[in-house]
This record gives sequence, C-alpha cells and structure tokens, in this order.
Amino acid sequence: MLKTAQDLIRRAGERLGLTPGDIEYLLKTEAEHEFEIELTDGKRFKAFRTQHNSVLGPYKGGIRFHPEVGAEEVRALATLMSIKTAAVGLPLGGGKGGVAVNPREISREELEELSRKYVAGLIEHIGPDKDIPAPDVNTDSRVIDWMVAEYEKLTGDKTKASFTGKSIENGGSLGREAATGHGGVIVLREVLEELGDSAQPITMAIQGFGNVGSYFGEIAEKDHPNWRLVAATDSSGGVYSPNGLDAKETDKFKRENGRLAEYKIAGARTITNDELINTEVDVLVLAALGDVITEHNMDTVRARYILELANGPISEKAYDYLIQKGIIIIPDVLANAGGVVVSYLEWLQNKAGEHWPEARITQELEQYLTAATRHIFKRAVQDKISPTEAAISIAIERILKVRDSRRQQR
Ligand code: GLU
Repeated sequence: MLKTAQDLIRRAGERLGLTPGDIEYLLKTEAEHEFEIELTDGKRFKAFRTQHNSVLGPYKGGIRFHPEVGAEEVRALATLMSIKTAAVGLPLGGGKGGVAVNPREISREELEELSRKYVAGLIEHIGPDKDIPAPDVNTDSRVIDWMVAEYEKLTGDKTKASFTGKSIENGGSLGREAATGHGGVIVLREVLEELGDSAQPITMAIQGFGNVGSYFGEIAEKDHPNWRLVAATDSSGGVYSPNGLDAKETDKFKRENGRLAEYKIAGARTITNDELINTEVDVLVLAALGDVITEHNMDTVRARYILELANGPISEKAYDYLIQKGIIIIPDVLANAGGVVVSYLEWLQNKAGEHWPEARITQELEQYLTAATRHIFKRAVQDKISPTEAAISIAIERILKVRDSRRQQR
C-alpha cells in the first residue's frame, strides 16, 4: 500500500512538473514513533504513530487495532491522510497510528489498558494543536473515550479536543459515527450527477459491512430509493440477492449474529468475498481493508464504478488495469473523507465549547464533500486524468502553496 500511495503521488507530482526535491518533500514523513506496550499481565504489542505532514495544520488521522498493523502500512495511511485533508480543504495535516493486536482476542480490561498505554506512550507528541487522533479499523468511541480520559489525566487538558470520535456524552459530535458512510453517499451522488449518470437506477455491492459499510448502505437506502443493494459481505462472506437486500435488516442480522455468511433470506444466496468482487453491478463499494483488489483478482471486476470507502483498497497494478478498462474509481481520499470532515467539526466544537445540532453537521458535511467532488471531477475531465490523480494533484498543490508562502514570510 505504501508503494501504491507513494507512486501515485510521484506520478501526479511529475505530471505537475514538480522538482524531485518537492516530490521527496511530499513523500517523507515528519516523525515516526514506534514503541512497545506491555500490559500488566505480560502481553506485549507493537504500537505506532506516524506524523506525515503538518503544513496545513495539526496532524489528524485514526488509530487502528489490527494484527497486520506495521510501520509501512501506518506510513502509507498517514500519507493518505495528508492528501485527504488537503484534497477536501481542511486546515489539518495527516497522521495515522495503530497497534498490532487482534482486539477480539483480548479482554475488555486489557483493551482499556492497551488504549490508555498507547496514549501514555505518545503523550509528548499528541494534543489538540499537535496531533489529534480518531477511530479507524476496530477502534470506536469507547476506545477513544479511554484515550481522552488518559490524556486528561496526564496533561490536565479539559477541552476534549485531543481526540475526535468520542461518545456524544463525552464531547463527541452528532453525526460522527455515521460520517464516513454518509460522506460516501454524498460523494457517490455528486459523482453520478457530475457524470450525467444520476437519472437511472443503480445496483451496488458492498464489501465490508462493518461500521462504514453498513452506515453507507442504510443512508443510501433512505436517501436514494433507486439505488439497489444486491450484495454485501464481511470477512466471513455474505449474501447476494438480485432483487435487493434491506440494508437495515442486514445490519441487524450482522449485529446480532456476527457473521454475514450465515445470513439466510428468501431469494438470496450465500457468496464469498471473491464472488462479491466479481458481481455484476454498477457500483462496487470497498469498505473493508487495504489491497483487496490486486493483480490476482483485478480481471474479475465487473462494476462500472468503484467507491473506495476503505483506505488503499486497490493496489497500483490493479489501479492501472481498472482505469485502463474505463472503470471509474472514486478515490479513498474523497470517498471516505466524511469521517475526517466531521472529526474536524467535532474538534471545532470542542475548541469553542459548543455542541452543534445534527442538521448543522449534515449541512457542513454536504458543503465540504459536494465542493470537493465537483472540484476533483472537473479537474479530472479538464486535465484528462483519473479522479485519483486529480484529487492528489489538488492536494499537493494546496500543501506546496502553503509551504511556499510560509517560506517567503521567513
Ligand atoms: N480514520 C479515518 C480516516 O481514515 C478518520 C480520521 C479522523 O477522523 O481523523 O479518514
């Protein structure tokens, strides 16, 4: 994933005529923190936080708890965060963190201790004006609340602006939990409109029916009755139903039973994740993990659009192949930016000591993502480049502009 992210930035930079020095500047990370967390029962885990670029503002980005977390992946994800915040016009930089752990294999007490020790290990490097972490894969408001409590204990800060994605009772924002999925719906709607494809009904398949994928499915179902969800999977597999799946019911089953492969409903059949990727649909929604479409399965894709709700779900080879086939990839840095947009709104509310109504959050989310989508897709058409390259180009121009104006002021 790191090579893919870096190569895409390098290519965009070369096309923009940047100097090798500027390209290097965009690729390098400003700081990388790696440490070991030891729990009182002796279990040890590797922990990471990478701070990629802070020219536009404090570092911002999630923390994931996943057995496959490693230095390279975190570096790739931090780089994507800098591009994401810049591409959608937020005054924030990019960072990412993680712990190499399977949270399902540890107890609630161990999870809390791990979350708190993660903060203690980074205390010098994070904070409301330095680096503001948030949830990511397998982390939620419960984990973030523990982290904020530890941050408060160690620093005395009472603003709650040190982390976003908190529970509502603890200074979180309305709409944050649903924000990434909600943002995906807004972006897809805008893309279909921008490309003159919004009048027809569309079919969709969602890979990764977790927090992001299920909110996407449910909000799409509510806001767009002519978008039909025909397939959904989680890591166990899932279901295909040509007549349509009810996203709310599917989510209910998933919450109560855990595994979508066991979901049995009339008119539907069980499918694997490979079959989901191979489903003939208008929009394939990738909401699971990174590198799920690679050279090994890229030729099985039969969708017209791919919405990247996960970070880095398509490898470089697959990206080139799919673009060449004319498939429209709606890039992660735009498609899943709803999460960080509402994180930014949460941070603003904490800083101002305010709590905004949900309608205001939705309105601001709409504004950011509509403007960003139009800007990116217009640029793609104008420069005859992919939306991914357009988003990266816009982002790196913004970063370099601010960096250069600062240099001149010195
Ligand atoms: N983890 C999310 C992302 O990858 C959200 C980051 C944030 O809210 O800071 O964009």
